[in-house]
Amino acid sequence: MTAAVTFRSVSRHFGAVKAVDSVDLEIAEGEFFAMLGPSGSGKTTCLRLIAGFEQPDGGEISILGQSANGVPPWKRHVNTVFQDYALFPHMTILDNVAYGLMVRGIDKVTRHKAAEEALELVKLGGYGGRKTGQLSGGQRQRVALARALVNKPSVLLLDEPLGALDLKLREAMQEELKGLQKRLGITFILVTHDQGEALSMADRVAVFNQGRIVQSGAPEDIYNRPKTRFFADFVGSSNILPPALSESLTGTKRWTSLRPEAFTLETGNDRLSLAGQVEASSFMGAVRRIALKVGESTIHANLPAGVTIPTEGETITLHFTPEALNWLEDAV
Ligand code: ATP
Repeated sequence: MTAAVTFRSVSRHFGAVKAVDSVDLEIAEGEFFAMLGPSGSGKTTCLRLIAGFEQPDGGEISILGQSANGVPPWKRHVNTVFQDYALFPHMTILDNVAYGLMVRGIDKVTRHKAAEEALELVKLGGYGGRKTGQLSGGQRQRVALARALVNKPSVLLLDEPLGALDLKLREAMQEELKGLQKRLGITFILVTHDQGEALSMADRVAVFNQGRIVQSGAPEDIYNRPKTRFFADFVGSSNILPPALSESLTGTKRWTSLRPEAFTLETGNDRLSLAGQVEASSFMGAVRRIALKVGESTIHANLPAGVTIPTEGETITLHFTPEALNWLEDAV
């Protein structure tokens, strides 16, 4: 099967800044792929390289098996949904959506029909006559999506597409985007700094740091098995156990990570234990979050809200299975 997008040692430097630093990447056709990372880690530059708005300083980019080096944006089977939507306020919604087809010289009847269909896809059928000012933020986001989909791209690039929406709308749109992607079978490449968004929508996530991919894999894998301290800290909210603490638990002196939800108050034959003093205990709805002072470390545990609640100052023992302990690759 042809890959939708392939990077071979792709670099893009801006002066001394290695925005993208020798990145290798292969995104399958029909995959929902997320690029996740802190601000300035190079994910937007990667997206712009795929779109053709940037050219690499080194390496090879292929789109659908064809070299993309030197190919201008409009000749790639790729469309971008920008964070600010970039809609034209003086045009109707229908003309906004049909714009790409108009530029390509498609006649008015055909392009308006295609635009109507694209609006139906994003549940905005019948809104074509309005102007962008008459829509909510969430509806504008859908128009931007329809405007990209009308071109029937093989690859859709989404640059923080939900960044401007409030939390509730963002969660609803996450489900919708994922559903749409599955229905249409188009390759979606999403750039986000929101790990919840990446983990909930993508088939595969690549985490960027300083212009490089530090780890990639299925959401469950990268969440449960982070490889480095950076990664464990960035994805979710892992406890990072220093080598001495891991050694006291297992006999092996290595950095390890442990998810807050791995703990219980019940002991068991095979379980490992950490004893310490409760520093803080806060009600978080479904769980109660405990901060436990264990030697020099503070360990966070999420316990079911219904359990008997340890109070601050109390000494308690938390238990977890050895499999919950994740070995990190950082040097000791
Ligand atoms: P954000 O989430 O803030 O958008 P990002 O991970 O998408 O960040 P990029 O926008 O790819 O990061 O930027 C990577 C690095 O390259 C940053 O240090 C940025 O300042 C730099 N950079 C990006 N574009 C340019 C440019 N046109 N000129 C100079 N430096 C740039």
